[in-house]
Amino acid sequence: MQAFSALHRLVSAVCSRPALPRCGICGTASDTLQPGFGLLFDIDGVLVRGRTPIPAARKAFQKLFNPQGHFVVPVVFVTNAGNCLRQTKADQLSHILGVPISQDQVMMSHSPLRMFRKYHDKCVLVSGQGPVLDIAKNLGFEKVLSIGMLRESFPLLDVVDHNRRPKLPSSSIANIPQIEAVILFGEPIRWETNLQLIIDILLTNGNLGHAHQNLKVPHLPLLACNMDLMWMAEAHSPRFGHGAFLVCLENIYKKITGKELKYEALVGKPSELTYQYAEYLIREQASERNWSRPIRSLYAIGDNLMTDIYGANLYNRYLEERLARKKRKAVAKMATVTGSSGMLSQEDDLDGPWERELAAPSATSCKSMLVCTGVYNPHAELLSDGGRKSQQAAFHGHRDFQFDPVLVEPGYIVRDVDEAVELIFEQEKFVAQ
Ligand SMILES: [Mg+2]
Repeated sequence: MQAFSALHRLVSAVCSRPALPRCGICGTASDTLQPGFGLLFDIDGVLVRGRTPIPAARKAFQKLFNPQGHFVVPVVFVTNAGNCLRQTKADQLSHILGVPISQDQVMMSHSPLRMFRKYHDKCVLVSGQGPVLDIAKNLGFEKVLSIGMLRESFPLLDVVDHNRRPKLPSSSIANIPQIEAVILFGEPIRWETNLQLIIDILLTNGNLGHAHQNLKVPHLPLLACNMDLMWMAEAHSPRFGHGAFLVCLENIYKKITGKELKYEALVGKPSELTYQYAEYLIREQASERNWSRPIRSLYAIGDNLMTDIYGANLYNRYLEERLARKKRKAVAKMATVTGSSGMLSQEDDLDGPWERELAAPSATSCKSMLVCTGVYNPHAELLSDGGRKSQQAAFHGHRDFQFDPVLVEPGYIVRDVDEAVELIFEQEKFVAQ
C-alpha cells in the first residue's frame, strides 16, 4: 500500500509538469487541455434586456460548464452598471443563467475604485442611485456623504422642483464636514438636484456653507464611473445612461466657469484600467483552479460599439504596445550583455502604478466581439460607409476619449452570445473537459 502511495505521489508530481497529457491515474489535466484564454461578458444587451433574459445566454452558459458544475474557462462579467453591490448582481446572474456565479466574477463600473486608496480616508460625496453609501463603503471609502444628506442639511439649495422647496422658512444645518472629493457612480433619479449640488460643491471647494467662490484650479477631485451615453433596456430604443448625465454636468460647469471640468479618474468600460482589472480577475480564477497554462487571449463580448468594442480594442492596443516595449527591452538587455549599443528610453519602462498593483498582464491580445441583441443595430450601421461617417458625426463616446475608426471596428460580429462562445471555442480549438 505504501509502495502504491509513493508511486501515486511520483506520478502526480510528474503529471503536474506542463505539456503532459491527462494522466489516467491522478486525473491532472495537462496544459494542452487547460484554457489559454478568458472571457469578458457584458451583461445588458448580451445576456439580458432590462430584466428579460436573452434566450441565447442560457444556451451559451451550458457550454461553459462541465458536468461537475465548474466553469471550463475563466469568466468575468464586466458591466458598466453601478447601482448595486457585486453580490446582488451575481445573484441576479445566477438566476438568469441557471448556473452559480460568484461575486468574484462580477466587475461593476466602480470596481477599480477599490485601488484609489488615497481617497479612502477622505470625506467623499457620492452621486447615483441604489445603495450608494454601501457601495462606497464596500469599495473602501470610510467617510461618505450622499446628495440626500446634503439636501437635508442645506434645504434652500434644491429649488427646481417647486414642490420640494421648504414650506416654512428654514436655515442650513451646518453639521456637514468639508467634502474633499466627489464620486459619480451612475445616473441619479433627480438629475436637477444632483447637478445643482455637485456644481455647488465644486464652486465652494467642498463647503456648502459658503457662497460660490473664485475658482481654485484645479477643482476638487472628481471620479466618475460608467460613461455610457445610452444603454439598451426593454424599450425599442436606447435609454439615457450615466454618460448623458456627465454631458450635462460638463456643459453646465463650462458654461458657468468658462473652464473644462476635469476628471481625476474615469472608470468602467472603455477605460484601460477596467480591462486591466478584469484581466487580473481572470488570472485569479485560473490560479484558483490550478490552471498553470498562461491566459494569453481575452475575448470581450458586448453590444455597444463605443463601450465594449472601443474598450476591448483599446486594451488590445495597450497589450500590443506593451509586448513591443518588452521586446525592445529584451534587445537592449542583450545588447548590454554583448557590449553592443542599445539604449532604453523612459517609454520602454514596462509597468505603471496599476501594473505594479495588479501584477503584469499575461494576455497578449484582447479580441472584441459584437452581438446583435442589444444597442448595436446592424441595419442602421450599414446604411453608408459602414456607418463610420455617421459614427464620427455623432460620436457617442466620452468627451475625453477620441473617435478612432479603428477602435470601433469589431474583431467579429456574431448574432448572439451563443454564437460568440461557439466561435471562440473553434478559434481556440478548445474542447471542454
Ligand atoms: Mg451592453
